[in-house]
Amino acid sequence: AAKAAGKDRQELFDPRLRHEQAERIRIVERLRAALDAGEFAVHYQPIVALRSGASVGFEALVRWTPPGQPPVGPDKFIPAAEDSGLIVALGEWVLRQACAEAAPWHRRHGTTIAVNVSPRQLAEPYFADQVRQALTDSGLPANALTIEITEGVLVRSGAHTELVLTHLSELRADGVRVAIDDFGTGYSSLAYLRDLPIDILKIDKSFMPVDPADAQQAALVRAVVDLARSLGLTTVAEGVETAHHAELLRTLGCDRGQGWLFGRPGPPAAASIRLSAESTVTIS
Ligand code: C2E
Ligand code: MG
Ligand code: MG
Ligand code: MG
Repeated sequence: AAKAAGKDRQELFDPRLRHEQAERIRIVERLRAALDAGEFAVHYQPIVALRSGASVGFEALVRWTPPGQPPVGPDKFIPAAEDSGLIVALGEWVLRQACAEAAPWHRRHGTTIAVNVSPRQLAEPYFADQVRQALTDSGLPANALTIEITEGVLVRSGAHTELVLTHLSELRADGVRVAIDDFGTGYSSLAYLRDLPIDILKIDKSFMPVDPADAQQAALVRAVVDLARSLGLTTVAEGVETAHHAELLRTLGCDRGQGWLFGRPGPPAAASIRLSAESTVTIS
């Protein structure tokens, strides 16, 4: 909408809009410089099998660490990166970094790595080739990689919908898993389950019951888990913050959980240490 408005002659003379546009350009220039300067890092959050409690994989979450400043979360810069198209370069960097860092974890512990991919990336003609190249260069097998997409991917890809679907199908044929992220927060969720080639459904964190005694909140989670299972999808619950959440999800037959209860996103060293600790067998 902002782009369309920018073309409107009248609004070019609105000083407030011109200021916003200048601000946007400034942010994008800083992000581009940050990418060149190596100021981005990937943090990893464990994804746990709810039955065994084992870390079966990690989600890669990008962070911006400007020198001398605290890390900046993706909600602050992903929207600007998406609008400007910089997400294509940033997303490719994240993909390559995550595959490279996760390859040894996969070799030693069999874990998978999930990478968020924006609609802009999926609409790039070379997206599937970029993924294959990242796999080849890192030595990570295709079946150890999951790409996470949101329901908005078809809406926002506009004229590129066919290309997006082709990329997803090609990658799945290679063995890459496709997850639908933040499920339940978008529009026409059920149609997306039908139309998108997916393997995994991530239940949005807003579905985790606030009140352990609220039967209606629990019923909603049950409905989503049952729906996903009946479609043959692996279920991952996001925002698992309490032991009650984990217990409820186990009871409902949800496969995996991700959230502060199991571990916050952290640097690659933290993921390595976690996996080593889990694989240590104590003989008493
Ligand atoms: P997401 O893919 O749904 O990632 C999960 C978000 O939930 C992460 O926020 C994570 O830190 C947060 N989270 C994890 N456990 C809990 C919990 O128990 N409670 C609560 N309240 N939150 C929890 P983060 O790292 O700030 O990332 C926000 C979003 O930014 C991501 O949501 C994803 O949509 C986007 N993002 C992150 N990295 C990338 C990337 O490399 N590329 C793209 N395109 N988007 C990214
Ligand atoms: Mg995600
Ligand atoms: Mg999510
Ligand atoms: Mg999200």
